[in-house]
Parts: sequence; C-alpha cells; structure tokens
Amino acid sequence: MFERIYPSKIILPMKMHYGVPAIPAVKVGDYVRIGQCVGVPPKGTFSVPVHSGISGRVSDISEIRLPNGIITPAVTIVNDMKRTRLESVKPRSGFKISASETIGIIRNAGICGMGGEGIPTAAKLKRARNEAVKEFLVNCLQSEPYSTCDLVAITEYPDYVVLGACACARTVGASKCVFLISENRKEQRKALANSIDKIKADFKDLEFDIKLFRERFPQGYYRLVARALYGKNLKLGETLEKTCKAVLFNCSTMLACWEALSDNIPMMSRIVSVTGDASGGHNMLVPIGTPVSELLVNAQDVRNGSDRIVWGNCLTGIEIKDPEHTPIVKTTSVISAIRRTEVPKTPCIHCGLCSECCPMNLSPNTIYEMLNQGLRQKASEEGARECIACGSCSYVCPAGINLTTAIASFAGEGRIIEVNSLLDNSGMDERLLDDYEAPAVGGSSLLEDYSDGDDNNVKKATDTITLPFEKDKEV
Ligand code: SF4
Ligand code: SF4
Repeated sequence: MFERIYPSKIILPMKMHYGVPAIPAVKVGDYVRIGQCVGVPPKGTFSVPVHSGISGRVSDISEIRLPNGIITPAVTIVNDMKRTRLESVKPRSGFKISASETIGIIRNAGICGMGGEGIPTAAKLKRARNEAVKEFLVNCLQSEPYSTCDLVAITEYPDYVVLGACACARTVGASKCVFLISENRKEQRKALANSIDKIKADFKDLEFDIKLFRERFPQGYYRLVARALYGKNLKLGETLEKTCKAVLFNCSTMLACWEALSDNIPMMSRIVSVTGDASGGHNMLVPIGTPVSELLVNAQDVRNGSDRIVWGNCLTGIEIKDPEHTPIVKTTSVISAIRRTEVPKTPCIHCGLCSECCPMNLSPNTIYEMLNQGLRQKASEEGARECIACGSCSYVCPAGINLTTAIASFAGEGRIIEVNSLLDNSGMDERLLDDYEAPAVGGSSLLEDYSDGDDNNVKKATDTITLPFEKDKEV
C-alpha cells in the first residue's frame, strides 16, 4: 500500500541522472501539463530528458544545490491541482515494436536507474545488447535498512515489473529472466511467481527463474551479485555484462519501463519510503521534484523524536538541512528520520567488527590507517578501491571512527573511471546522443520522435519484438 501525495509545487532538477544536465525547455510563466517534457538533453551529450508529474505554471528556473553537492538548474512548477494530462499519455494498443524503438522510448521517457547512481537505462540496455548478454537480472532485493519502496512496487504492480523485465530482456536479446529476491519476502515472491505464470505465454522465448538470497545488507550491488550468482570477483573496470554475460536492473526501473512502453508515461513519479527510528513508516507515490517537506507533513509519526532528516538510507544517506527546498529525485528511494546518536570517539580498539561486516571482505581499519598515513598505493593493494560505500563499517565501529567516508572517497576516484567505462562502451548510437526536441504540447508520444528509420547499425534479425499491449486499457 502507498499514499498518493499531491504537492503544492515541484522542483525539478535538470540533473538527477549520471551524465550531463538537461536544459530547461520551458520558461517562467509557461503552463505545463502532466507528462510534459520540461528539460531536454543538450545536443550530442550523455543525458536524459526531464518531465513534469503535475500540471501548473512554471514559477522559477534557477540553480539549486542538491544534498549530494550537485549544482544544477531546476524548474519550479506551482501545482494548479487540476491534474491536466498530455493527450499522448495513454495506453498503446497491440503492435510490433523494434528493439531499437524500445530503447528509444525508454530514453525519451527519461528513465534512469532508480536504485543507484541513475545511469540512463537506454544506455545500459544498449550496452547489454552489444555484449549479447544471456541473463537479464532484476534486483528485487531492497536490502537497505527501513526502505521498502521496491517491495511495494512489486506488491502493487507485479505485472508491470515482470512485463518491463520481459520487454527489456527481449530488447537486449537475453534468453533468461531472473528475479533476485530475499527469501523472507514471501508476499513479493508469490506476487512475482503469479505474474510470471500469467505472462510467460506471451514470452515463450524466455526462461524464468526466481533466485532467493539471504536477508542482509548490502545485497543488490552488481559485484556482490556477480559473486553470489556466478562465483566471479569482478575487478574494477570489469562489467557484469562482459564477464558474466548478464545485466542487472532495479525492479522499480522495470516498472517505469513498462509504464513508458505500454502507457506512454514518462518517468515523472516514483514510490518513496518515508521512515525512521520512530515508526514503521510510509510509502508514498509522489511526483518527482516533490519537496521533502511535503512528504514529512504527511509523516509526522515518523518525525517524532528524530532530529535528523536524511536523503537516502540511514547508513549512507546525506543529512538534509532544508527540506522545503530539497526535492525527491529519480534516484531517491527513501527519506529517513533518525535520532542523532553520538558514539564517544576513541582510537581503534582492534575489535575486528568492521572486517567482519564488510561485504567486500576488506579490512577497513587497516585501510583507514594506511590512508591516514598517506600510503595510497598500499591501501590500493589492500583492496581499498573495491569499497562499495555501503556504510556498514562506520555503523558497527564502537570507536566512532568514520571509516566509510575515508575509504569510499578514495575508492570513488576509481568508481568514476568505472562508470565512465560504462559510458565509453555503451555503444550509444548517434541517434541516442542526437539533438532532442521536446514533444509539442499535447502532441507526440514517447515513440513518435524516435522513428526507427533505416538505421542498419542497430537493426538485427532479432530486432522486431512483439509486446502484449492490452487494447482499450485505462491508465
Ligand atoms: S563502506 Fe566499504 S570498507 Fe566499509 S564495510 Fe562497506 S564496502 Fe567495506
Ligand atoms: S570496528 Fe572500529 S574499533 Fe573495531 S577494528 Fe574496526 S576500526 Fe577498530
């Protein structure tokens, strides 16, 4: 279950994804409808468009600073509460579609990974297709403390998650669709299994599997998945696609893909967990750009006794200083309200807890000491660049040492290279990087400005895929 939030305004940052910020495609005073593109990718750049999840007037376009330090232009839209939608936001009827059109729709819908760094989904699909992956993995693990938004997405829209995964699996040419889920999530397992049973007749070329994982944090990071499923320890720069012939997507991203493919809905809203120490919390379906303060108004029980509001989970999130001007972005899965617990700071007592909990089998205390002494090369040899910034070592340390910040920032230099290598190898064809024009108001669908044309580079024998769109379905 989730609550729907209709905010008084939204603040839409032009950069909520990995890549270059979009450019505002509206001006102050313009009237905007639900589903309208308000930010377009600059020509020839790696970027995604931005869409409005409310109708109303643009009141401001200015730079904002997000809690993660990103400074980006943002479009503020005041809600007229009329919920006027673009005519093009409506279900498609049954038709054949090519793999490159599928990628185009997903790209034009502004979809990026909803569970991590916000890598544009079209680019990731393109790379998986170029790498000829065999297995399409769907991360339904949601192991972050308190966060349950992905689980709610599965419970409420299991068919959309499964259909999105099937469509994307066909797009990349995979032969198997595998859902990864915690063994404790019985309700979601059942929902997925029922949907697979219902849908598999339309996807006879795909094999299905549900893989059960132990409940622990962290679980869904691709390098942990590579180790758990394929027994591979991926080194920096190695990809799941190339080394394991598999690709991993978050389940909420799959839901967004099916909304775009079947209902022509761009990425303009998401489910967010609002939770904390004081209560079990809420899940809210909100337009992207909703100020955090408007979520908190509806979650007073969560705030009781808490003195920190965190953008993200309580282990790795960033404290929010100004909830009124901090928006929910495409990658915000949880807002946590937590109590400030000050652990008395002491030198390391060599208890070994940090090593015990590290999912990458590192010795955080040893690496921390090396970095403190400026021994960067040694820290690297000790595996520091393998750190996935999960926050566990700092959380368990009884000496109150902030191991994560030191190790993760050192590893982060490597991670930038790692993500860049994804972009270099993404095989993005020119059209995906080409000039993007905002669809005319009320006019074109997400497909229409992405005609398949006669692009032989991406056209293959397996290119045409049939998706089971339902006729006359209500959005
Ligand atoms: S933050 Fe890094 S070093 Fe610390 S436990 Fe997680 S992976 Fe290991
Ligand atoms: S958990 Fe803290 S005190 Fe214990 S070994 Fe690690 S750094 Fe030292």
